[in-house]
Amino acid sequence: MTNQSTTAIVLRTVDFSETSLIVTLLTKDLGRISALAKGARRLKGPFEGSLDLLSVCAITLIDKPGDTLDLLTESKLRRRFRGAQRSMERLYAGYYIAEMLRLLVDDDDPHRELFDMTLSAMGMIDGEGDVARTLLAFDAQCLRLLGHAPATRRCTVCGRDAERSRRRASFSLVGGGVVCENCRPSQSHLMTASWDALDALRELASDPESPPSTAEENADNPSQPPPTSFPIGRLFPAMT
Ligand SMILES: [Zn+2]
Repeated sequence: MTNQSTTAIVLRTVDFSETSLIVTLLTKDLGRISALAKGARRLKGPFEGSLDLLSVCAITLIDKPGDTLDLLTESKLRRRFRGAQRSMERLYAGYYIAEMLRLLVDDDDPHRELFDMTLSAMGMIDGEGDVARTLLAFDAQCLRLLGHAPATRRCTVCGRDAERSRRRASFSLVGGGVVCENCRPSQSHLMTASWDALDALRELASDPESPPSTAEENADNPSQPPPTSFPIGRLFPAMT
């Protein structure tokens, strides 16, 4: 058993007893964890009302071995999510982010970049950010950071660049990306997607720390128009 301190976002709380909660947290250093918070339901409990949904807290916990729940021993509120006081749209956007993270992230698998990106997205939703655009960028960045980003240029079967001879791309639901004309007849579970939508998705899911991809990706095919540009820097200022 070891004591660990880190920063956490509250993703879910479930009543465990008349006085205690089980909390699911996305932490900066430990990934997603579940922990028992004894006394958290008492009016004057040890956590001072810090364990509300999407609150950002500085926590200390005792890391229990095996499948035993970790024990939360301290939680200090750093920032409370105030979407409910702004609008139903911002509140539900917050719920959406919490649920996506709870379902997509594995236990004890730290993703510091994902944690920082989530804080930025929550700041936009809690502030004056455009909710729909923020959620789109959040989804796309989640896919990239967790290794699920769709292939939007290269065929998922043969690996060659998928030519744009048709107005819409063939997209493999099984392969998670585009399929070229040669490979298309042999594939099942295909849908079509517009190239503009795929370009926009690639931009939204691109690494904000990397140089813009437009020049590099069009260098070998100057006849193609540049991908639709989305202002990721404006969506997530903290990431630029
Ligand atoms: Zn192919």
